[in-house]
Amino acid sequence: MRVVFLGPPGAGKGTQAARIARLRGVPHLSTGEMLRRAVREGTPVGLQAKGHMERGALVPDDMVDRLVAERLALPDAGRGFLLDGYPRNPAQARALEQVLARRHGPLDRVVYVHVDDDTLVERIAGRRGCPKCGAVFHVAARPPKKPGFCDSCGSALVQRADDAEAVVRDRLRVYHDNTAGLVRYYEERGLLGRVDGNLPIDEVTHAVEAVLGSAA
Ligand code: AMP
Repeated sequence: MRVVFLGPPGAGKGTQAARIARLRGVPHLSTGEMLRRAVREGTPVGLQAKGHMERGALVPDDMVDRLVAERLALPDAGRGFLLDGYPRNPAQARALEQVLARRHGPLDRVVYVHVDDDTLVERIAGRRGCPKCGAVFHVAARPPKKPGFCDSCGSALVQRADDAEAVVRDRLRVYHDNTAGLVRYYEERGLLGRVDGNLPIDEVTHAVEAVLGSAA
């Protein structure tokens, strides 16, 4: 299964992609996660990406395209993959199409998780993540058992610097400017399945499964 998860920051696409990846046994590839790791490790990509990410802007296409092409070349992606946060604009979608034509096969489905902006800001401001194992929580909607600490590995949870409200508003503007065109792009290719991301988390997973049913 070769699937793209599309939607604004905070729509829950990362959570859903992680769940589906576990259920279906394919890797969950989040470009945001890859870039944050590169920044933490101080790699050349990380050093270039850092400033863009802190401003809530997109990292240049060629950098992200290369990162994804390299990741898709690893053997585990041969079984399929769930892309989360990529592509972010039609140019990246065309770059992905070229990589897939060379190595894999066409996309099976694009899952579009949509949520309104005010709900997104509320959700993102309460989001806390585990810097060690990557688990994601929410202070109100999905609290960890012990406040401030990861259920899976016990590490202290942190708020991403770009989850601060002012940066979130910028990220949403960037999303609307760049990514909304992608919905049309994939709709025209008959790949798009819409999911209401305002629903409770388990219902969203059912809706995602329904969209993916025919792509299994
Ligand atoms: P995310 O975790 O998907 O919200 O991504 C966090 C940040 O990483 C974004 O605000 C961008 O700065 C950068 N980023 C992630 N994916 C991409 C992409 N496909 N293209 C450009 N920048 C990206």
